[in-house]
Amino acid sequence: MSTVAAISTPRAQGGISVIRISGEDALSAADRIFKPISRKALPSEMEGYSCAYGNIVSGGEVLDDGVLTVFRAPKSYTGEDVVEISCHGGIFVTEQILRLILSGGVNAAGAGEFTKRAFLNGKMSLTQAEAVMDIISADGSAGLRCAESLREGALFRRIKKVSDGMLKLLGSLAAWVDYPDDDIPAVEEYEISAVLEAGIADLDKLLNSYESGRIVREGADTAIVGRPNVGKSTLMNLLAGCDRSIVSDTAGTTRDVVEESVRLGDIVLRLSDTAGIHDTDDTVESIGVDRARKKLDAADLILAVFDVGSEITAEDRELAERCRGRNAIAVLNKSDLEQRFDFSEISDCFRDSVTVSAEKGEGLERLVSAVEKLYGMSGFAPDMGVLANERQRSCAERARLCFREALDALKAGATFDAVTILIDDGENSLLELTGEKTSEAVVDEVFSRFCVGK
Ligand code: GDP
Repeated sequence: MSTVAAISTPRAQGGISVIRISGEDALSAADRIFKPISRKALPSEMEGYSCAYGNIVSGGEVLDDGVLTVFRAPKSYTGEDVVEISCHGGIFVTEQILRLILSGGVNAAGAGEFTKRAFLNGKMSLTQAEAVMDIISADGSAGLRCAESLREGALFRRIKKVSDGMLKLLGSLAAWVDYPDDDIPAVEEYEISAVLEAGIADLDKLLNSYESGRIVREGADTAIVGRPNVGKSTLMNLLAGCDRSIVSDTAGTTRDVVEESVRLGDIVLRLSDTAGIHDTDDTVESIGVDRARKKLDAADLILAVFDVGSEITAEDRELAERCRGRNAIAVLNKSDLEQRFDFSEISDCFRDSVTVSAEKGEGLERLVSAVEKLYGMSGFAPDMGVLANERQRSCAERARLCFREALDALKAGATFDAVTILIDDGENSLLELTGEKTSEAVVDEVFSRFCVGK
């Protein structure tokens, strides 16, 4: 593999920048540009895990001074010889140094190239490599804990447990099918179903926690909806803790979609305060209403706000119907007023309901626990190893389907041969999930989402 280099820190001014070189020629490339001051040895003469202070020079001219760290294969991030140069964190100076390194015959690293090499050199599984990406993009402690446990291998071990069970089963099936006349003990049907059922149960648990994990990592796209004047803006401001959207007494003043992210417990809600969904002749407002409808359809979570100080209206009923079957919580607002609202009429459209007074700031904790309950956060521990992305989810789903089909086929009296083929398909999906058996295209796709320099 060729030797590659990239700037591993963000393209911005900062205290320091780090340039990373990895590959067979990393040390000789460093020798060409780095003149040590703190010691005599050239980079190629240095031991792994050691560093030196010195100048970065181009044709006799000093570009910058910095610290060079040597990692020797296989004890490095990529498993190859790696050199990291910490220089001053200016955009121009860092790019000059990178250009100098590249002009010596080193290639520019592609997106995620260092982590890809780590995977190809057996330093980490595919799920661990994906976790590196999640750690970089984590924006909350629970999301970070999910990613850390993924990197540490929690998911890998959970998958491996199922996969190992299936492999053992496949082994005994193969032996029995291939050498039926020998003294190999017959595989009993109940043994096969026991392994399949255990594997399916483990995959069930994993797949069930996918949604909780996704919401913890990415946050929930949340639509606050309701007819005009029920208190949507007031609720949004309460959640956001600042005056982002217009609160007014005139119906239909929140014309556009205002966005804000708030953290509720372990969950980030990406809120959009939308114009009330109602029929209107006002064209400017109708654009807002149209966008609000689209928002509602695309939302992960719907907070449907009602004014309990007034009677239920046709619009309230229509909104409730749109919430049926969705992740929707009814927010019964204005609890400080005299109650005129008969919620029982529409309660079956919602997963849950909470009573609040947005204006008085009452009931927020009830809303937080309703949201956490909705996403099954109570049985969810970020470090138990969760499926972290759609690729992993679909592999697990496919594996579960194959094992279910194998179980059905077995019960229907199919031959062990036919059952074996189905189990084998499922096993392949699991191996694809961990990256133990996966196509180049999948690997390329995974790493293309990385930034350059990681
Ligand atoms: P939106 O049109 O749904 O965004 O409603 P607003 O947030 O603009 O609120 C409409 C009116 O209801 C404003 O006068 C608010 O002060 C008032 N309001 C909002 N929440 C409450 C509440 O909990 N109690 C009472 N009494 N009034 C509220």
